[in-house]
Amino acid sequence: MTRRKLIAGNWKMNKTASEGSALIKEIKEQFAECTGNCCAKGPEVLVFPPFTTLSAVLNEASGSCLKVGAQNVHWANKGAYTGEISAAMLKELGVGYVLIGHSERRQYFAETDETVNQRVKAALAADLSVVICVGETETERNKEVTSAILERQVRWGLSGITAAQMEKVVIAYEPVWAIGTGKTASDADAQAVHKFIRTLLMNLFPCPCVAEATRILYGGSMNAANAAGLLAQPDIDGGLIGGASLKPADFAAIIRAAQ
Ligand code: PEP
Repeated sequence: MTRRKLIAGNWKMNKTASEGSALIKEIKEQFAECTGNCCAKGPEVLVFPPFTTLSAVLNEASGSCLKVGAQNVHWANKGAYTGEISAAMLKELGVGYVLIGHSERRQYFAETDETVNQRVKAALAADLSVVICVGETETERNKEVTSAILERQVRWGLSGITAAQMEKVVIAYEPVWAIGTGKTASDADAQAVHKFIRTLLMNLFPCPCVAEATRILYGGSMNAANAAGLLAQPDIDGGLIGGASLKPADFAAIIRAAQ
């Protein structure tokens, strides 16, 4: 089973609409030689700009190999949820992916496994693809409860999701202690955790085809220097990249490392 690599850039709360367009232009320049059929040859490449930057980025990315996703989605179709964005709103814009359950959402905005699951269900019902983030904090790691935390996050996140829906699900393993810190899991440690998550998927879905086909990304201070080693691991199917995705040359180097 060969899984197509996925390199995704999480812009977090960075880039206005005009700055986002400019960044996409620069990323496109790094891959000027590749459009159309050529896009299918390398890894899938995706960016998650802030909501207000989505339209500008979708326009600028149109006709290129770049795909565009949103950083969150609410579970209701519409209604009295001030400040929230629905799957239908994203779908109409032309967004293809949604990032769900990022550790910053869990840490600063009180998102729980339950609301992560509600968001996943709403996104999939709207035919959006999802990248669900899971990962242990430093305290959890030191207490040696990483496996239990990941099992809980994966089980809850995927509760009620069918094998057919799993075709639109990507899991991102992001150890919280590695996000934005410059610390990265070693290639071997990251591989072991990814394998553990794939085994969990084997247990959750009777057909091994689901675990074999589901892409599991690594995130946490991935950069141009460490990407090749991580991406060479058999169960690491790509990267979710924060800081380095805002630097076109670094992001391009990571994409090339996945080729
Ligand atoms: C992230 O925000 O998902 C992330 C992995 O950030 P960084 O690459 O900056 O650690």
